[in-house]
Amino acid sequence: MLKIFTGLAFAAFTLTTAALADDTKRRELGAHAHGQGTLDIAVEGNTIQMELVAPGVDIVGFEHEAATMEQTALVEKAKAKLTDVLALFKLPAAANCEANAANVETRDDEHQSGAKDDHDHDHESEAAKPSHGHAEFHATWTISCKAPESLTGLETAYFENFSGAQLLNVNVTTSKGQTQAQMTRDKPRLDLAGVM
Ligand SMILES: [Zn+2]
Repeated sequence: MLKIFTGLAFAAFTLTTAALADDTKRRELGAHAHGQGTLDIAVEGNTIQMELVAPGVDIVGFEHEAATMEQTALVEKAKAKLTDVLALFKLPAAANCEANAANVETRDDEHQSGAKDDHDHDHESEAAKPSHGHAEFHATWTISCKAPESLTGLETAYFENFSGAQLLNVNVTTSKGQTQAQMTRDKPRLDLAGVM
């Protein structure tokens, strides 16, 4: 009797350890740190391509699927703010830029480790799946500027709009090469003068 009990206890312990290991692995794969987003900026000729990846916590304060009408409204409001790229990232007026395209969506962490299959017809089944609780906002934008040589810097309203955000790690790619920079709540500005 004692032997059977020990066996069961051992089995339970093994299962728990395996579940913990799986959870740890998933978090490493997810690789987002709350408070920190990533912004990629690529300037080529007159076109700026920008991509933002930010933890849900930074943008709306939670990362599970919206469960109440209030949470759904928060997500929709955040998406609307993220769509208006030139309000979020203020470029010098002299550069004469206009937004051409914007795409904003939320993804849960399954997308980071699994297949990148983003066809429209998948969205219904995705919505039905339970979230693992580390959803992110992904935004991509295309901007065109008549005078890209005047892109000496930008100032962001990102931190004013999203109270959970503390930091943006920025990767800038121009014809002069790649540079890394950070924008923070205390320094919501990016100097581009040296890289344009
Ligand atoms: Zn998270």
